[in-house]
Amino acid sequence: MPNRKSAVIALGSNLQNPVEQVKSALAAIDAHPQIKIEQISSLYITVPVGYDDQPDFVNAVCAVSTTLEGKDLLAALNRIEADFGRERTFRNAPRTLDLDIIDYDHQSSGNPHLTLPHPRAHERSFVMKPLAEILPDFELGEYGRAADIAARLGDDGIKLCS
Ligand code: ADP
Ligand code: MG
Repeated sequence: MPNRKSAVIALGSNLQNPVEQVKSALAAIDAHPQIKIEQISSLYITVPVGYDDQPDFVNAVCAVSTTLEGKDLLAALNRIEADFGRERTFRNAPRTLDLDIIDYDHQSSGNPHLTLPHPRAHERSFVMKPLAEILPDFELGEYGRAADIAARLGDDGIKLCS
């Protein structure tokens, strides 16, 4: 693929068989003609952040290569979320599928429609732990090395999905 960029995508689901939602979403991402999955983390079970009264989440991270620009990658991911029946209700609400761009080509942007790196990734063990599993040396902008961030956050509220 010409002009291929690397990106990191975080997946999360806590409704309607979340393990299957995440696995199917990975297949849907890889099926996009301009996105190729290079690495996939284990699946993790995590307790909800922000709004407690909802089921546990299943989370994972994948590293991709893509010929899409960042905004077009986000549009493609939003389309997949919609295909999976996600309804946008309120922030941190339960959802069948959430796809966030954690990093795109190590670019930095304050654009609210696509903030890079993802502004909350470095605070979330459910993003940093799977990222550290597949790419421990990944440099997440100003926040540093993935494995170091994950170690600082610790393992509270997250376990491997058996
Ligand atoms: P959240 O994931 O925070 O629960 P949403 O998935 O509904 O919420 O996303 C809210 C908005 O975040 C979207 O309109 C999207 O444009 C914006 N956004 C900004 N930066 C990013 C990013 N790096 N990845 C995904 N969405 C982002
Ligand atoms: Mg999102």
